[in-house]
Amino acid sequence: MKTLFVGFDMIATMDDEQRELSDGYVLVEGNRILEVGSGRPKVEADLEVDGRGKLLLPGFVNTHHHLYQSLFRNVPGASDAKLFDWLVFLYERWKGLTEDAMRVASAVACSELLLSGATTTTDHCYLYPREGGDILGADIEGAQHAGIRFHPCRGSMSMSKKDGGLPPDSVVQTEDEILADCQRVIERHHDPEPLAMLRIALAPCSPFSVTQDLMRQTVNLAGEYGVLMHTHLAETHDEEAFCLRTFGRRPVDLMEDLGWLRPDVWFAHLVVLSDADIDKLSSAGIGMAHCPSSNMTLGSGIAPVARMKSSGVKIGIAVDGSASNDTSNMIREVRQAMLLQRVQYGADALKAREALWMATRGGAQVLGRDQEIGSIEPGKAADLVAFDLEDIALAGSWADPVAAVVHCAADRVDFAMVNGTWRVREGRLVDESLYGLIPDHNRFSKTLTGTS
Ligand SMILES: [Zn+2]
Repeated sequence: MKTLFVGFDMIATMDDEQRELSDGYVLVEGNRILEVGSGRPKVEADLEVDGRGKLLLPGFVNTHHHLYQSLFRNVPGASDAKLFDWLVFLYERWKGLTEDAMRVASAVACSELLLSGATTTTDHCYLYPREGGDILGADIEGAQHAGIRFHPCRGSMSMSKKDGGLPPDSVVQTEDEILADCQRVIERHHDPEPLAMLRIALAPCSPFSVTQDLMRQTVNLAGEYGVLMHTHLAETHDEEAFCLRTFGRRPVDLMEDLGWLRPDVWFAHLVVLSDADIDKLSSAGIGMAHCPSSNMTLGSGIAPVARMKSSGVKIGIAVDGSASNDTSNMIREVRQAMLLQRVQYGADALKAREALWMATRGGAQVLGRDQEIGSIEPGKAADLVAFDLEDIALAGSWADPVAAVVHCAADRVDFAMVNGTWRVREGRLVDESLYGLIPDHNRFSKTLTGTS
């Protein structure tokens, strides 16, 4: 099956030369991009997609999320609190999560990501209530229903209140339970093959919810299987104070001691950083999931992306969980990233194309998949999205359609293709059954947020 994408107002390839083609075409065969060029190719395609009035981009890569949190949006009592208070309040509600609720939340959140341009997402899935069932398995089923390329991270919490951590006892597991399950989910689900739709990473939740020993053992296990590692880091000043008080180290120094400063690691947030921290992260080739809306909602601060963008840190953009963003809209997050840097560093701190680059190539680099996704190039996955330039929000922005989708706050794709399969057409999910999950999602949400 060959599909020819042709006639687009613009194709922004996001290749190394950042080529933008105003008379270009993209030929897809199966799940791969076969050719990219100007004019029309000589081959016959089975399907021709007319791109008049549209911008074609590689699908975005969302580098940090907690998909279960779409059940916990806009929760009164949490939506105006800073991180540690927010966490302590919400843990009491999160602890009721079940695999059935997880499956629905994952499908709904992934659908929202697809509609807003993400074709790959991670999920930092760290909540395993004792009576919850197979949370990660349900997470994967939900993402597969939506059809997104998926990197679930087997998260964990091992340090509850009684040990000096923040979470309640009922949501923490022992180190042995966690490590055994990490091994199980890698062996069961991880696909190392090129263009894989499912890869596992290991992701202890944060320095204030797991033990140092678990952090160290995770390095060994991830190395054994060749999977990536992920955690939250340097999100707030409270976290820095906690780390100094508890471990006698600031967060980046702590992770250095634990063997976590390495290129197969990516951290969410990295807001509270010193110059020395940035140097360490840069020379280690660390990946970063920048979550501007979440940082703004919780009042955490502004990550120094403008200072890090020319360092050795690989920077991706992420919506973060919907309890601290309240939306999973990826193109809006790209805009937020651009604007937030300007608040701190001035009007030229981050340009629209730089933010788009982070959301595509940057994210692909963070996930170690720069050879497979993140740009429109021959051999890469057919992960393509298009924005309708004739949408009312973009009227009058004709001079630069690439920057327009960021500056003018586009919020929904016209189409999204993932691995050669249509997932969104004409602004709607192709699989209509996904819309049918919304009442179930709301029912689970009411039950969970009603508990105290
Ligand atoms: Zn997070």
